[in-house]
Amino acid sequence: MSLTEVRRLDATEHGLTSERVSPNALDVTAKLQAAGYAGLIVGGCVRDLLLGLTPKDFDVATDATPEEVRDLFRRSRLVGRRFRIAHVRYGRELIEVSTFRRAVAEEEDERAHSAAGMILRDNVYGTLEEDAFRRDFTINALYYDPQTEEILDYVGGLEDLESGHLRFIGDAATRVREDPVRALRAIRFQAKLDCDLDPEISQCLPEAASALAAVPPARLFDEIQKILMSGQAERAWEFLVATPLRAALFPGCDPNDPLVPRAMRNTDDRIREEKPVTPGFLLAVLLWADYQARVADLLEEMKPAEARGHAATDCLAEQQQIMAVPRRFSQFIREVWQLQERLIGRQPRAIHRLAGHARFRAAYDFLLLRAEAGDTSIGTDEEAAAITEAAEWWTRYQEVSESERKTMIEERRGTAPGKKRRRRRRRKSPASTDGNDTAA
Ligand code: ATP
Ligand code: MG
Repeated sequence: MSLTEVRRLDATEHGLTSERVSPNALDVTAKLQAAGYAGLIVGGCVRDLLLGLTPKDFDVATDATPEEVRDLFRRSRLVGRRFRIAHVRYGRELIEVSTFRRAVAEEEDERAHSAAGMILRDNVYGTLEEDAFRRDFTINALYYDPQTEEILDYVGGLEDLESGHLRFIGDAATRVREDPVRALRAIRFQAKLDCDLDPEISQCLPEAASALAAVPPARLFDEIQKILMSGQAERAWEFLVATPLRAALFPGCDPNDPLVPRAMRNTDDRIREEKPVTPGFLLAVLLWADYQARVADLLEEMKPAEARGHAATDCLAEQQQIMAVPRRFSQFIREVWQLQERLIGRQPRAIHRLAGHARFRAAYDFLLLRAEAGDTSIGTDEEAAAITEAAEWWTRYQEVSESERKTMIEERRGTAPGKKRRRRRRRKSPASTDGNDTAA
């Protein structure tokens, strides 16, 4: 059965040359074709190339089964259960090879779907045409055949790409019910490609938000990480905040928290400048207001240091129910938070050690962010001033020579919280902070 007419564009029409395709992906398609299988470049990479963007990775589609692909490529292995594919490794580059699949109707196989209509397994193979229709967005369902240099479009993806339209293939509500993560993908592509969301997509976002609870937390974290590290996090966040998805993902986050967009802009800038980034930092920012609120509550029952420890544990544990934040990141977040008070308190004995702490740089960046953005979770003006003062102090500390650092520490010795400090310091008000309890 033919679902639709395929649109074929040759090289002169689409302008995409195989020089822009990863040689490794070309190697995969060539070997597949030489072995008698289909081998096509597909998905986000074709979309990105047509838009003049550099693809993050290259995906290949084939009619060979995952096992057949594995037998054909020495450096390959099979991954995924819900969606079984072959990974072919070329040094640091990984080519994902997926077998043509078809959508399985709920009536056809009940076990392939949850009661809510979510796809639990997606391993029924099909034809190229069926494979096009089971993909999420029209612009993600374009195939490039390196041998003929043709682009194949079964779903009107080329037209949507030209007009900057993000549209699901088929009924949006059904596609989101099948896989609520597609709603997050929509937001990510909207931000990355600067395209318009089809109104049908916007309409089904509330339903998607409630359905996210049924998505395995590990998969949700993967998708969140992609959004945070997309280089367009600030814009994606702006979109997320305007939808119920924000509350489903980060219930404790204040949508008006000024720290969040600012931190995301920093991260986006760093990605553009090819500086190292970590999702841990943005998660620490996203969860900060919730953490602070918990600290405030717990302070009624326990000492500050203890309250902070418990607040961090509770906050992270609750977030883990939604998305599986890997341990290395949750540890990072915890450390960055705990270092805040110590950086503000600047106990003279601890300064040298603090500056050498593995998380110093991240914690300092966090402090700077709080000072610059006007952290709304800060109680009093005095506390806000203390943060600004500490941030400036640490900035200077990092800029000056070793001997000047010693002087700075010496100065701090004379300024243990209280009167002495007030006399010595001429300009800034001392604004004692609750960071002074760090020795507790
Ligand atoms: P990018 O690599 O820039 O994140 P992408 O579109 O390539 O974007 P991938 O996650 O690499 O995204 O997926 C490759 C292709 O697989 C997609 O273009 C799409 O055709 C298909 N796909 C991925 N996830 C889904 C999904 N949840 N539902 C349907 N199709 C999907
Ligand atoms: Mg991809």
